[in-house]
Amino acid sequence: MDQALESKIVARGKQFFQSIRGEAPSIFNKGFWTGKVMDWAMKNEDFKVQLFRFVDVLPYLTTSDALRRHIEEYFTGDGAADIPAVLKWGAEKSGMFGGLAAAVMGKAIRSNIEGMAKGFIIGQTAKEAVKSIKKLRKDGFAFTVDLLGEATMSEAEADAYRDGYLEVLSAIAKEQPSWPALGGGKGDLDWGHAPRVNVSIKPSALFSQAKPVDMEGSIAGILSRLVPVYRATKAMGGALCIDMEAVKYKEMTLELFKRLRADPEFRDYPRLSVVLQAYLTDTERDLADLLAFARAEKLPIGIRLVKGAYWDFETVVAKQMGWEVPVWTKKPETDAAYERLSTEILRHCDMVYFQAASHNIRTISQVMETAKALGVPESRYEFQALFGMAEPVRKGLLAVAGRVRLYCPYGELLPGMAYLVRRLLENTANESFLRQSFADGQTEDLLLENPLATLERETARASSPRPSESTRPATPAATPKAANVPPPFANHPMPDFTIPGLRAAFPKALAEVRACFGRTIPLVIGGKEVVTADTLASVNPADPDEVVARVCQAGTVEIDQAVAAAKAAFPAWRDTPPENRAAVLFRAADIARGRIVELSAMQVLEVGKQWDQAYADVAEAIDFLEYYAREMIRLGAPRRMGNQPGEHNHLFYEPKGPVAVIAPWNFPLAISCGMSAAAVVAGNCVIFKPSGLASAVGHGLCEIFRQAGLPDGVFNFCPGRGSVMGDHLVAHPDIAMIAFTGSMDVGLRIMEKAARVAPGQAYCKRVVAEMGGKNAIIIDDDADLDEAVSAVLTSAFAFQGQKCSACSRVVVLEPIYDKFTARIKEAAESVKIGPAEDPSNFMGPVVDENQRQTVLGYADIARAEGRILVERHTQGKGFFAPLVIVDGITPEHRIAQEEVFGPILAVMKAKTFDEAIDMANSTRFALTGGVFSRSPKNLEAAKKRFRVGNLYLNRNITGALVERQPFGGARMSGVGSKAGGPDYLLQFMDPRVVTENTIRRGFTPIDEGDDWFE
Ligand SMILES: Cc1cc2nc3c(=O)[nH]c(=O)nc-3n(C[C@H](O)[C@H](O)[C@H](O)COP(=O)(O)OP(=O)(O)OC[C@H]3O[C@@H](n4cnc5c(N)ncnc54)[C@H](O)[C@@H]3O)c2cc1C
Repeated sequence: MDQALESKIVARGKQFFQSIRGEAPSIFNKGFWTGKVMDWAMKNEDFKVQLFRFVDVLPYLTTSDALRRHIEEYFTGDGAADIPAVLKWGAEKSGMFGGLAAAVMGKAIRSNIEGMAKGFIIGQTAKEAVKSIKKLRKDGFAFTVDLLGEATMSEAEADAYRDGYLEVLSAIAKEQPSWPALGGGKGDLDWGHAPRVNVSIKPSALFSQAKPVDMEGSIAGILSRLVPVYRATKAMGGALCIDMEAVKYKEMTLELFKRLRADPEFRDYPRLSVVLQAYLTDTERDLADLLAFARAEKLPIGIRLVKGAYWDFETVVAKQMGWEVPVWTKKPETDAAYERLSTEILRHCDMVYFQAASHNIRTISQVMETAKALGVPESRYEFQALFGMAEPVRKGLLAVAGRVRLYCPYGELLPGMAYLVRRLLENTANESFLRQSFADGQTEDLLLENPLATLERETARASSPRPSESTRPATPAATPKAANVPPPFANHPMPDFTIPGLRAAFPKALAEVRACFGRTIPLVIGGKEVVTADTLASVNPADPDEVVARVCQAGTVEIDQAVAAAKAAFPAWRDTPPENRAAVLFRAADIARGRIVELSAMQVLEVGKQWDQAYADVAEAIDFLEYYAREMIRLGAPRRMGNQPGEHNHLFYEPKGPVAVIAPWNFPLAISCGMSAAAVVAGNCVIFKPSGLASAVGHGLCEIFRQAGLPDGVFNFCPGRGSVMGDHLVAHPDIAMIAFTGSMDVGLRIMEKAARVAPGQAYCKRVVAEMGGKNAIIIDDDADLDEAVSAVLTSAFAFQGQKCSACSRVVVLEPIYDKFTARIKEAAESVKIGPAEDPSNFMGPVVDENQRQTVLGYADIARAEGRILVERHTQGKGFFAPLVIVDGITPEHRIAQEEVFGPILAVMKAKTFDEAIDMANSTRFALTGGVFSRSPKNLEAAKKRFRVGNLYLNRNITGALVERQPFGGARMSGVGSKAGGPDYLLQFMDPRVVTENTIRRGFTPIDEGDDWFE
């Protein structure tokens, strides 16, 4: 730490505070409704949550009835008695409350909150924006204008976003000649060096299909709309800054920045900036990379340095997905990173025009004093703040530095409310400099402290024992864990395609898998490979001329051999200790982890799964192995029942015997592995019949188990034609149990066959069957459409809708029906369709010609029963079925009742939420369902009345995770308990109880745990 510089920073900060003494940002001014409500929110976390959620939903409450209902739902009820008083305060103040109707109060509350939002945006139209800009410039502030928008779900929306920019630029173009330059700058430039026109733009809003897995396609898509905006900006002599959003867009943003900067059309125009976020732990590396680029290309660049606006989001997402958290987790770490980054940028002021964006007086003072110490000319840096935030700070900045630019969002109130929520969060966060300075009254010394010192102090405090602890006797050391106890279960991380290594691994693995195409896959019975004369070609659904493998087919003879092998292996495997059986699963999980990309690539080519979907499937298989292994260890120990002395009752579980596992093609590894792993770890032996459409993937499972050391005969790989060997396997007298996942028709047939007792049969066969679904998502009239449209699209069409959990019906409340259908239509028209091998494609081919014909047949039915909103056909060699969205559907229609297992979505209209639930429940199935609503009451109602096995609120309805979302349905969706849940293994075992009388002629040994006297 440079002490001299440090003292100057603190002195500068004190001076700054002195210059704004007694002032507070308007949001903290308790004399106004906003300040009062904010004050309450900061004191009362529950109220804060409710308030911010209410602000978020407000633009959707278009009728006074909806408004009243939501006010009641959000702000009344237990423990919230005095909350409405705060809200009413505004109404009372404005003289509108007190004896007047609730509708009037609602109106007043709405106008207060809209007023709050307007405090952060400069206008709702381009005209208003230009007017406000003019005024700000009169007050001495430069601007950068930003167009607010909803999440871009379609190419039409991306076009509209681009056009919005072109519109505001053209409005500014007309006005700007009349604006005198700021700071006495000569000519057209503010402060003598900065263009008067400045635009900030969110890259992801310019392309609806932007995703890390398709880096090149995303960059091209964004640039196609960014270039016209930059061209228009350049024509006006303006500057453009590319905002930085969530970390998933970071790499593409930095790359497109470099490409745009180096583009021959713009090389000579050095008015392009990009944002870096100090809270990302990788940003120092990114800065070094940008500096190297600028120097190598001899291209001056601009950098706006911020701390970062998505801290909560990034941490929560990383935790949910099992990823490393990408941001610093302690506030002073971010502050310190900002200071290091700003120093480095200032050192390179010959190549970088620096825009320091912060409302933190310590941060600002550090930039000022460091720039001075390094002798950076004032023309090489400026300060920036958000419009509507930290008014005293921006005023102080203007007085001291002169060069202050305000970030000025404009746009409609709907996206304006989402922006308001972000700003409210930023102002009221415990760690916020503004809150600590202007609401919590933190001392200046602490506010101006060097963040490294703060960090040291806070770390020391966290690690020193609390007084009460230091006087307490030391707690005895925790009981040492048994050496072989596994760590707690954790899901395998979801694929993170921001990692370049993962993106590069896929094409390589696809090539390797393809290189082995055409091989013959044998059966494996009793540990021996068995080659049959009959083989079945498994083909690539995107190009059926490509034979993935020729798979040997078991007939009844081979099935008899396999059942005999399983029966022979059973006694030894049954008597293998549960921990040892679990150990095989742990080894199998390790092997699958090591081969995850290769196993995914096989699915991409054999069944047409997109990269992320295929990876998630393998990840789920790993989860099943890890979870069921732990479950078996848990269930493996005999449990004592009761505690009466003189009597020992022990409950324990025993495997059932040979189990037939009949698996589907749609989750070819995960479901195959889940059913097999459960059977095997419970001590059973398996005859595994993979789907004929996914037998190469199925063989992968066989290899994994073999490599993991599963004894011969415990897992027998028997692909075969259902018509030839299916009934024989199910009806075989030595089969104890059938675990099946697939269609309802086949599932019901299995149950019927299994119920018949064959001569010599020693088991009552148990059938666990996961069957179909006709799953619905309800869109309430207050649903967040950004989220709902995206979730319905993914739930209905990812992997071509070929999931039993997929959404095939969407029930939309009347008031929002037109808006929803318009957006889902545009969104579905925007997705790319083509082979799953190409990661830019959102949807691929269905699995085979039969499936294609089925979908085509249902497309005809949809056309006859409703009105087609979207019908997208794809040309190509593969089994491409149309993506269809049909509306005007009612519960009686076939398209609302029958499972299609393909990319067809029926849209239904409901008048009330109750009716929507009735419609959703109106099929024979009960597998998954979803609700998008911001009404607490309706969400509660759905929990009670929407009767499906897995109900998802405000998210997509596919992708259940092992342990977190145990999966399975009821009614015609299946029998058995939930896969990946705590009851699943019990189905593969029979419970036994042994009771022993321990009394010998009155002598009774008393055991620990007996009900005995102290
Ligand atoms: C002109 C301008 C443009 C902007 N453009 C962007 C942009 O493109 N992208 C973007 O993401 N943001 C952008 N922002 C928003 C900006 O990120 C926030 O306003 C800023 O983080 C607030 O920082 P501060 O220094 O003003 O306040 P402080 O109160 O000093 O810092 C708050 C920040 O600290 C960080 N933080 C909070 N808690 C923790 C914690 N526990 N551990 C680690 N770090 C923590 C967060 O980044 C939080 O925002 C912009 C801001 C301005 C002024």
